[in-house]
Amino acid sequence: MTVAIPAQIAPEASVTPAAPRIRPALVNGLQIFIECPEWCTDDHVAENERHLEDICHGGRMADLMLPGPSGELDLMAFARLSQETCGSEEQRRPRVTVDDRAAGAYLLPDEADVFADGLVSFAEQIRAMVQVARGQ
Ligand SMILES: [Zn+2]
Repeated sequence: MTVAIPAQIAPEASVTPAAPRIRPALVNGLQIFIECPEWCTDDHVAENERHLEDICHGGRMADLMLPGPSGELDLMAFARLSQETCGSEEQRRPRVTVDDRAAGAYLLPDEADVFADGLVSFAEQIRAMVQVARGQ
């Protein structure tokens, strides 16, 4: 059996490219304007980097919290989108930064996908341990 799926085209999206997102930044106290990706949440004015090449884009943090002995949550690791603004095209590719507060990794999308698969497997193993611990 063949099912026909009608083409769905959003004319506005395919014809009109998104306008660049221009935001202010300070470099050594001098205000400039830079193009920021939509996901960038960094305050480039507050950062006031010394050199233009020090400006990096950063996205929202995703935190991995671990319960401590008295129930308080401790930050075990975090991840966020990041992007250099200078350097080669390869260096300026968006990456997923994963940092456990001791070391960080700057993963390209394919590498981050593999890492995420490992986290899913890790979570599945924890759920299996939970079942054993509950005697199920
Ligand atoms: Zn930015």
